[in-house]
Amino acid sequence: MFSQDMYALGAQPSVIREIFEYGKARKAAIGEENVFDFSLGNPSVPAPPVVNETIKKLCDTMESTALHGYTSAVGDAGVRAAIADYLNRTHGTSFSAANFYMTAGAAASLSITFKALTEPGDEIVLFAPFFPEYSVFTKAAGATPVVVKCRADDLQIDFAALETAITARTKAVVVNSPNNPSGVVLSEATIVELCAFLKKKQEEFGKPIFLISDEPYRELVYDGVKVPYLTKYYDNTIVCYSFSKSLSLPGDRIGYILVPNEVANSREIYLAVCGAGRALGYVCAPSLFQFLIPACLGQTGDISVYQHNRDLLVNAFNECGFRVAKPDGAFYLFLQSPEPDAKAFCEKAKEFELLLVPSDSFGFPGYVRVAYCVATDMIERSLPAFKKLAESYNTIRN
Ligand code: PLP
Repeated sequence: MFSQDMYALGAQPSVIREIFEYGKARKAAIGEENVFDFSLGNPSVPAPPVVNETIKKLCDTMESTALHGYTSAVGDAGVRAAIADYLNRTHGTSFSAANFYMTAGAAASLSITFKALTEPGDEIVLFAPFFPEYSVFTKAAGATPVVVKCRADDLQIDFAALETAITARTKAVVVNSPNNPSGVVLSEATIVELCAFLKKKQEEFGKPIFLISDEPYRELVYDGVKVPYLTKYYDNTIVCYSFSKSLSLPGDRIGYILVPNEVANSREIYLAVCGAGRALGYVCAPSLFQFLIPACLGQTGDISVYQHNRDLLVNAFNECGFRVAKPDGAFYLFLQSPEPDAKAFCEKAKEFELLLVPSDSFGFPGYVRVAYCVATDMIERSLPAFKKLAESYNTIRN
């Protein structure tokens, strides 16, 4: 009668959305200020001023039919040239407009790329913990997700586990650094080792293995940490980028796919990207937000707020005896649950009005994600609740 797979997806909202909805109901019941909602990765700092200034300027100066009309399916040529130019200046690369396909954010970039690269029976390797929608997008493309858990001690890649997961069916490997849900940035040493490993496997199987770099958090790093630019390390890299988090405009839906010339069959892959975008009905990325981008490249909201939030929480968690690493980027903390069942821990946390996300849906059980893209004063008000939660587990060391 209708698609059972799609029904199952629609009927079972993501765990994160479920907690967010619970939070909304709870806030209505006991007051906004009494609920400590760390569930959603929605940027809490305003978009940088250049965003609204440019939107106003575009509305005042561009002809309405051009500003709001369809662009070419791959995106406006001037916008793509501006992105190429910015990346070339920043990373010493040599891209041109022809390497870029504008999208409605990273989710679209990933869905289109997965569909463009895979045929039935192909496998896509995902490193856990991972953004849960990866597995939804992989299956929607008709491919099979293969999960490889990261090392528990530092959440870098476990190469022994990767060795057993890569087969002749592997079409692509997805990396996400800085990572959602852990905030971990893959070190340059890890990247170098990963690229050497993939090159060896490409030779062994006599076919390309694509490295898909999902980078909505690229600019959200603290303490001067550097995020290696992957196209410089591995020819078969495809970048799925989004401005959602860096410019704090996740609802406006704008990003891109970058297929460098060095990718095997680059032109054909680019055309497959165009075909997948077409088949999935994307038509073109939102035009107003395409035209916004050239003025905003390299800019971010005030990310010092996130760094301050991270430090406040890491210090408080250390004092509470919760086990958490201090991550270098994004706006998430990955806290080890003091009991093996993270869902039970999240239920307990709810008793103190703390809304946390259990890590099971990230493919890495036993942890919770704490999204700290929230108001700093909410964090300050939440600290006594975290202390009470810790007391209920006796984790506080005297
Ligand atoms: N990839 C990761 C790792 C994410 O965390 C998110 C959103 O939270 C996305 C992709 C989707 O981002 P977008 O809003 O640009 O579609």
